[in-house]
Amino acid sequence: MTTVRYAPSPTGRLHLGNARPALLNWLFALRTGGTYVLRLDDTDRARSTEAFAAGIEEDLAWLGVTPGLKVRQSDRTALYDAARDRLIASGRLYPAYETEEELEIKRGRARLLGKPPIYDRAALSLTDEQKRQYEAEGRRPHWRFRLDGRPVTFNDLIKGPQTVNTASMSDPVLIRADGTYLYTLPSVVDDIDLAITHVIRGEDHVSNTGTQIEIFEALGGKVPAFAHHNLLTGAEGEGLSKRIGSLSLAELREEGFEALAVATVAVLTGTSLPVEPHADLGQIAGTLDLSMISHGPARFDPAELESLNARLLHEMPYEAARPRLPRSIGGAAWEILRANLRKFSDIEAWARVLEGEAAHVPAAPEDRAFLADALELLPPEPWDEATWSLWTGALKQKSGRKGRALFHPLRLALTGREDGPDFKSLLPLLGRKVCRDRLS
Ligand code: GLU
Repeated sequence: MTTVRYAPSPTGRLHLGNARPALLNWLFALRTGGTYVLRLDDTDRARSTEAFAAGIEEDLAWLGVTPGLKVRQSDRTALYDAARDRLIASGRLYPAYETEEELEIKRGRARLLGKPPIYDRAALSLTDEQKRQYEAEGRRPHWRFRLDGRPVTFNDLIKGPQTVNTASMSDPVLIRADGTYLYTLPSVVDDIDLAITHVIRGEDHVSNTGTQIEIFEALGGKVPAFAHHNLLTGAEGEGLSKRIGSLSLAELREEGFEALAVATVAVLTGTSLPVEPHADLGQIAGTLDLSMISHGPARFDPAELESLNARLLHEMPYEAARPRLPRSIGGAAWEILRANLRKFSDIEAWARVLEGEAAHVPAAPEDRAFLADALELLPPEPWDEATWSLWTGALKQKSGRKGRALFHPLRLALTGREDGPDFKSLLPLLGRKVCRDRLS
């Protein structure tokens, strides 16, 4: 059995870049029949809000992600305290009293000597008396994890064999001077407690993983498998900040993008699979293996989202569209109109066209007599796919017009638009009454 987790901090709304780990975990759970845990990393009480927590769940639901279990770190402090006490007892967690200014001076000195600015572990040699003195001065310790200093190796399911040399890192602070936990320890404690088998997250966490593997081992927990995915970037490899890339999922939804288009672009960009329409997330889960995720950056192209969105609509079966359609759009109309949509909401303008309610474009003076002939020559109903050529054939004879001069004024008069579906199929949908009203 596999268990994965998606662990956002409720300190903002989710963006496209967050959708990537959210969905890669979801697809992995689907593919392996595993459990998906939503873990809210809300240890930063000052920045976490209920509204953001609710927003995350709403956004995940929109994408089609429905966690089997939800936990919040703020409910689980007792577990972290127990782990803290064990690490203190085993000598892996030690108090340090330096202020931020003192640490900065140490780093500056190391740089001057041409050494890496790694914490010198001075706190490890403090006597009890010195600690008492610091406490008497009103200093509160922060707590550092004593790294092993051995290279930590793991086999990343995306990036292959990895080595993180913890000897080149400062002992990480796990607990702040005010007693609150940084993300590092709670994450490991939760991964052990919830029996997480696979940690799938962004590649910005690789060196974290070195530290966290040491913590897993120090706590006697089973080390999960790790998979670090490339991060979505802009076209030049910069952060995702171009207009669409910087929109939250809620804003993308507002803009009328299909959840499946957003999800598909969020996961398939930067993989060896093409960004193409899929029937649902299950179908993507069936094809996308973690090993298909590229080692290079995942460059997001807003135009790709726009065009995938349109392609999904062009292939959307009537049954899938029906709950969202205006009542006047039936199956036949949907099949004919969907190829003209870029956003689903474009269908509303077409519904108005079918009802004869589209805006009128005043006829050019040279077209008035022609349109009067068109009205006169409208064939009697019933109408079918042959009606258009019958009608325009007669008009052609009467007016001597052909090509664009024949068709364009009719399209403008009947639909108020420059483009749209083939009239052969559109005309029967409009019906004689709408055509007659619009021409007169
Ligand atoms: N809250 C962390 C983040 O958003 C979670 C990282 C992880 O998956 O361990 O970066």
